[in-house]
Amino acid sequence: MSAIAVAPPSPSFDAAALVARLRQTWQSDRTRPIGWRKAQLRRLLDLVKENEQALLGALASDLGRPSFEGWLAEIRYLELEIEHTLKELHSWMKPERQSTPMVLQPGSAYVLPEPLGVALIIAPWNYPIQLALAPLIGALAAGNCAVVKPSEVSPASSAILASLLPKYLDKDAVAVVTGAVPETTALLEQRWDHIFFTGGERVGKIVMSAAAKHLTPVTLELGGKSPVIVDKTANLSVTAKRLIWGKAFNAGQTCIAPDYVLVEDSVKRPLVDALIATLMEFFGDTPKASPDYSRIVSDHHFKRLLSMLSDGTVVHGGDSDPEQRFIELTLLDEVSPESRLMQEEIFGPLLPIITVKDVDEAVRFVNARPKPLALYMFSGDRSAQQKVLSRTSSGGVCINDCINHFVVPGLPFGGVGTSGMGGYHGKHSFDTFSHNKGVLEKPTFVDPALRYPPYNDAKKKWTRRLM
Ligand code: NAD
Repeated sequence: MSAIAVAPPSPSFDAAALVARLRQTWQSDRTRPIGWRKAQLRRLLDLVKENEQALLGALASDLGRPSFEGWLAEIRYLELEIEHTLKELHSWMKPERQSTPMVLQPGSAYVLPEPLGVALIIAPWNYPIQLALAPLIGALAAGNCAVVKPSEVSPASSAILASLLPKYLDKDAVAVVTGAVPETTALLEQRWDHIFFTGGERVGKIVMSAAAKHLTPVTLELGGKSPVIVDKTANLSVTAKRLIWGKAFNAGQTCIAPDYVLVEDSVKRPLVDALIATLMEFFGDTPKASPDYSRIVSDHHFKRLLSMLSDGTVVHGGDSDPEQRFIELTLLDEVSPESRLMQEEIFGPLLPIITVKDVDEAVRFVNARPKPLALYMFSGDRSAQQKVLSRTSSGGVCINDCINHFVVPGLPFGGVGTSGMGGYHGKHSFDTFSHNKGVLEKPTFVDPALRYPPYNDAKKKWTRRLM
């Protein structure tokens, strides 16, 4: 877990000068043509493909991330997102015709997407490569300049982004700023055309109030507690496998990780047995020795998670090692809803299991709390699935799965309420970094007098007929 070179904040970092330089590029119109956008996206694809091993090395250094997980969630995800964007970009950029009312004929109306300008992208540490570059795909596709600010908590990933991005992309249009709170604060003081923030609710509020000073639009990709509902009709062995996979991925340090389970009373014991059997199958009886399980990112988060272990009764797991920042995936019972474990986003490998009488009680439990980023329902009963879908609100949902709604390019990814605002992925990323301009074009060869003074009843009658 020793860190490779850490990118220190540049001593000569000048946020205002940086934004002025990028704004000059933006005003030169160089970033608008599809040719520039596609060239940048192709270079970003080259960056990911040509540096796969180095990027995986940075992830292993920051998070002890198994190579397969790093490849799947960061490298492969980015490749697919870039390839999809390259394929679709031409059609996304096309003006979208709208019907023009009779009264405005002859004329044509259409929606014309235009770039916003200079964007700021602030990324977190948990998927430090993917969550810095995926928004950048949208920013470049939409023809913007951008500054990427990776997280200081994942120093190896920040360092590699700072070293590679200028080598591959147009340096006058894309910049990386490393560092921590002082650098981000200096960036947030500048005027941006969009701020795309991924992180926690606390910093989300800081970002939004900084943006308000300039009336800058924001996308906030935040977190929260994503519940899992398991009813008595669920296929328990499949449920256990998918649930443990989703919780163990990156050792639970995933914004859409299953946070806690609400299980119908009658199937609680068999579900717990299936979860334990799955843990043994995936990681053996000494999970610390498994090469397929990540470590906790920092001592701070390690201590925070350990302190929450006492909020319930451990039914399986509980092992930890501060040297390696290892925490075993731990199932907890008898957890009070008032405990920190149930009040805070866990963001680690602890899984509280709470018993409910039925699906209605589970829905009430979810609805009594802030709207989650994701909600997972495991059930074989179509009407129970529909009940949960229609009566709860969350950023996204999986039925009989978890996490994987993230990778469907057609689905918008984002939160609702305190789990965030706005969304991205695929066309939604392009839309996030574009302004949809409404345009009406009128020829001048005819100019009916209907709309002009002096007004009279006949004009009103005809206008009413035509609109
Ligand atoms: P964080 O909010 O602490 O930090 C995010 C970014 O904000 C970092 O780049 C950091 O340098 C910067 N930052 C920190 N303090 C700041 C301050 N005072 N002023 C300005 N900038 C500041 O989040 P994190 O710990 O890196 O990530 C964990 C959180 O992110 C969790 O809540 C998780 O759910 C959420 N998250 C959400 C998504 C999503 O897509 N919705 C994805 C990953 C993580």
